[in-house]
Amino acid sequence: MTKIKSVRTRVWNWTGKTVPPKANFCTNASDTLYERGDAMNSFRFHQWLTCEIETEDGTIGIGNAALAPGLVKQAIDQYYAPLVIGEDPFDYAYLWEKMYRRTHAWGRKGIGMVAISAVDIAIWDLMGKLVNKPVFKLLGGRTKEKIPVYYSKLYADSIPAMQEEAELAMKGNYSGYKTRFGYGPKDGAAGMRENLNRVAALREVLGYDTDLMLECYMGWNLDYTKRMLPKLEKFEPRWLEEPVIADDIHGYAELNRGPIAISGGEHEFSLMGFRQLLELKAVSVIQYDTNRVGGITAAQKINALAEAHQVPVIPHAGQMHNYHLTMASANCPMAEYFPMHDVEVGNELFYYIFEGDPVADNGYLDLDEHKPGLGLKISDKYIDQFEVTE
Ligand code: MG
Repeated sequence: MTKIKSVRTRVWNWTGKTVPPKANFCTNASDTLYERGDAMNSFRFHQWLTCEIETEDGTIGIGNAALAPGLVKQAIDQYYAPLVIGEDPFDYAYLWEKMYRRTHAWGRKGIGMVAISAVDIAIWDLMGKLVNKPVFKLLGGRTKEKIPVYYSKLYADSIPAMQEEAELAMKGNYSGYKTRFGYGPKDGAAGMRENLNRVAALREVLGYDTDLMLECYMGWNLDYTKRMLPKLEKFEPRWLEEPVIADDIHGYAELNRGPIAISGGEHEFSLMGFRQLLELKAVSVIQYDTNRVGGITAAQKINALAEAHQVPVIPHAGQMHNYHLTMASANCPMAEYFPMHDVEVGNELFYYIFEGDPVADNGYLDLDEHKPGLGLKISDKYIDQFEVTE
């Protein structure tokens, strides 16, 4: 069997046009802190990392990561690449453990686990290409004909702008619609009213026969969320997402005993991290992102654990590394979906760097049986709008 010959990491810095941030488009973890300057800045990321792993026979697997790409690049170049070079990519479980255990002192969460994720995703893409099968076939095949997707955007804005976006989005027949809260604890009772008015306005447009998801992006706290929950109940949200910071897992557990399903996990890492969330019944929906959580090797274990607890997994952000797992797990009922749009928060960069990510059609997307690996290519379409560091 062919061996891993090289690992190439590149950071893609977007230099093209961006949509300027609007005030109060989404709360975030910095909101509760008095800060000078633009806290919203911490919410936007206009960089992405690609990790290309080549085997002796010239096959290249592509992984990616979105969090702190510059640091993740250094972690891969210095620590993780030497651990996989010379190895057989089909030893993926062994290679994962090797990366995890050799860097355990500092790598088990955060930057280290994001780096492991990028390498692991590249290895799975590589395995698929080497046996000429899509990754979802390696994971067990189709559990659904197509993947239902929910529309994710509806950042907080003026009520007419949000209603107009919702009306337009409904033409796509999505399985649900996710909005972001613009106001949190520092905005007091008046901010609560602003939040509630927007949810009411969206239900006015969407009606009650479709799911509406509510997202806080860690910008609330336990007390504020406990006061908001009873006010939100009448709007029948499918879930309330990341109300408090990722470390407050007891806060999640307390909130999840209430009337609204609490979702989270896009800032949690590895099987062990999710064991804690599941044992505490801290979330009713798991939302890992494969390119943070430990790659496909870790994500498929989390899928099994979540299934045993009967907690559905609906990964963060959509995108190919998540779709293959969603297709292959009966416990993943749908996927998040960002329609292609101008570069705004940063999630969109994925569609500018890669080609091959499926486009939703009438609320569903499909994966191609005939595209080996993840089915992604690095695109040259927007390459002149990136500054690439190697
Ligand atoms: Mg989220």
